[in-house]
Amino acid sequence: MFKKGSLLIISGPSGAGKSTLIQTILENEKDVYFSISTTTRPKRSVERDGIDYYFVTKEEFEKEIQEGMFLEWANVHGYYYGTSLRPVLRALEEGKLVLFDIDVQGYASIKKSPLAPLATSVFVTTPSMSELERRLQTRGTDTPQTIKKRIQNAIEEMAYMKEYDFILINSDLARSKEQILAIAKAARLKRDPKEIEEFINYWQSH
Ligand code: ADP
Ligand code: 5GP
Repeated sequence: MFKKGSLLIISGPSGAGKSTLIQTILENEKDVYFSISTTTRPKRSVERDGIDYYFVTKEEFEKEIQEGMFLEWANVHGYYYGTSLRPVLRALEEGKLVLFDIDVQGYASIKKSPLAPLATSVFVTTPSMSELERRLQTRGTDTPQTIKKRIQNAIEEMAYMKEYDFILINSDLARSKEQILAIAKAARLKRDPKEIEEFINYWQSH
């Protein structure tokens, strides 16, 4: 019947809790593929190359742009971030739910792509800007200057909340985990018009 997977796009300010909630989906749902982005941002000490991100130089990233390797890419906080197309297509063919942790620009690109009908989107944020700052400070991975840049970027990103299917205010973590799992389950049911037509043909002949 329906064989293709679906896309779940998770955006929101840096520090809002996206990685934490993605981890919850990976631990609780089967047949999930996390799209590992490529970036030119320096690696944080807790991060692992090839697991959290593929860390590359600016020159390597620009070469991949030229070669048309990216489904989408954007400049965020002064660094390049992008999603390679090929592994995403492979995971979709395998019927997986593909998770994306991408910014609002990346979401806008996917919305214009042929994959858009398979995509569900969720914007994750904190209850307030001061709580976002507190989380970035307690995470302890960013310098005060980087935190300032991230807060400024967050203010700009919040303007795009309206574009998303779902809004998740991540205050109580246990509740947010339940909510993200509900969204992940629903996202799997999103189908593209071509598949629906095939299903109707099948349905009429059985
Ligand atoms: P992002 O991936 O959006 O940048 P993280 O998942 O790294 O954010 O979360 C930022 C910090 O906030 C981490 O230290 C994480 O443990 C913490 N955190 C996540 N969700 C909550 C929550 N609901 N309440 C308090 N702290 C949280
Ligand atoms: P961080 O540096 O905190 O890991 O990520 C910074 C921002 O870049 C976040 O908003 C995150 O969602 C976004 N991001 C990560 N990977 C990608 C990607 O492949 N494409 C786009 N457009 N944004 C990304």
